[in-house]
Amino acid sequence: MLAEDWRIGIGYDLHTVVGGRPLVLGGVPIVNDFGLAGHSDGDVMLHALIDALFGAAGLPDIGEHFPDTDDRFKGVSSTEMLGQAVAEIRGLRWTINNVDLTILAEKPKMSPYKSPIARSIAELLTLDVQRISIKAKTNEGCDAVGQGRALACHVALTLKRGA
Ligand code: MG
Repeated sequence: MLAEDWRIGIGYDLHTVVGGRPLVLGGVPIVNDFGLAGHSDGDVMLHALIDALFGAAGLPDIGEHFPDTDDRFKGVSSTEMLGQAVAEIRGLRWTINNVDLTILAEKPKMSPYKSPIARSIAELLTLDVQRISIKAKTNEGCDAVGQGRALACHVALTLKRGA
């Protein structure tokens, strides 16, 4: 039996842009003139992160954990869902080693928010901020993201268990 067990998780999510909703990314409220559609608060970054955690641990995905047909999760904060996911992962003795996120957004300009989002995610995961990377890109005008009709996020992370 290996002394250490390492797992890689990947997560992806996309939410469409909608007016009249607050924008929350990585648990950070963003001053903006639109938010994201969704059964929850639409935090596309935390949703991708949650799926990467579940994926690395070989658990059912976010949709199975928090069905959008279930009224218990209507309008729920994604930070709460992340808290439940982290508790489940840690209950299985996994340690989060590092997290690498890429947010794809034509608007708003993400660079001022990269550090606040990294600190927010570090706090939510009780992880050193040095183990979290936030990258931001536009989609160069291509597809719905590039045309400003949606925001998307990719996440890769590693989990470690054992010695
Ligand atoms: Mg989502």
